[in-house]
Amino acid sequence: MLVSDLSTELAWTTSKTNTVFDRAAGAYLGLAVGDALGSTVEFMTPREIREVYGEHRNLIGGGWLRLRKGRVTDDTEMSLALGNSILASGGVDARGIAEAFSDWMRTKPVDIGHTVRRGISQYRLHGTLEVPENEHDAGNGACMRCLPIALFTLGAAEEAVAEANRIQSHVTHHSRLADAGTLTVIRMVQAALLGRPKSDLRLLAEALVALEPQYRFDRRRMENPGGYLVETLRAVFQALFATDSFETALVDVVNRGGDADTSGAILGMIAGALYGPDAIPRRWLGVLEKDTATACMDQAAALLTASSRYEDKGSARGEGKNRSIS
Ligand SMILES: [Mg+2]
Repeated sequence: MLVSDLSTELAWTTSKTNTVFDRAAGAYLGLAVGDALGSTVEFMTPREIREVYGEHRNLIGGGWLRLRKGRVTDDTEMSLALGNSILASGGVDARGIAEAFSDWMRTKPVDIGHTVRRGISQYRLHGTLEVPENEHDAGNGACMRCLPIALFTLGAAEEAVAEANRIQSHVTHHSRLADAGTLTVIRMVQAALLGRPKSDLRLLAEALVALEPQYRFDRRRMENPGGYLVETLRAVFQALFATDSFETALVDVVNRGGDADTSGAILGMIAGALYGPDAIPRRWLGVLEKDTATACMDQAAALLTASSRYEDKGSARGEGKNRSIS
């Protein structure tokens, strides 16, 4: 083989091989794109979507929130707030997170979930850093913002990842069922970041079902998923495993309607890590608000860089609940 042929092949290989940093950017941009795509059809039924759009497949804004084209909602904004808190404090600290969420609520967000508002209000009124356990807190509001935890705890011991997730989740949502579902999403993102195939992600989803059978996703097609995390993840898993690209997976899940921005955001972060940033359609990335896209890419890289400090700390973390991991 000529040297020139070899270098061409190397260049090709490099461009087709996603590094963990590429995949992290893909996950964060995937989250934002899924949020923006889904928000247009949030609270619509699949039938209503078909009547209005045929198939919804472009970032056009609108929806019940009357969003500008390319605008994201609370799913992406809360993720960025959580990630900024981790970067500022150098750890997963409940007080820092509660402050970041409170600051975000002060910006008069375009959308905010009921459980999130209640949790932030409890923090403001009473300094509450962990809301009481409540089975009705199994909404998807803690899962939609879990990506910074997946990035920052990459490589940490499993229990340390789980504890970091409980700290961030319980600021507003406290449910064993939702904790298990969110931890599975985090582990799926982490597996994808490390280049594991989709079959490994499926094993993680099946392990969740073995633990919490309500998450079964191999039965009836989940349409019109609501804010209950069980419904969200059924739709996300079905769409992810029935398709073979970022675009087809995202189009599949948002056209199921319901809480489509959040199902789009969660599927977007998993599929973005799995397929890499080059798989995200240019027509979507080109429309995404520039400040948001930049913030997502910067934070993905910063959290991954910070994660190296987090390694090997997991085993030493059985000590008490100080609601802080660093
Ligand atoms: Mg939203």
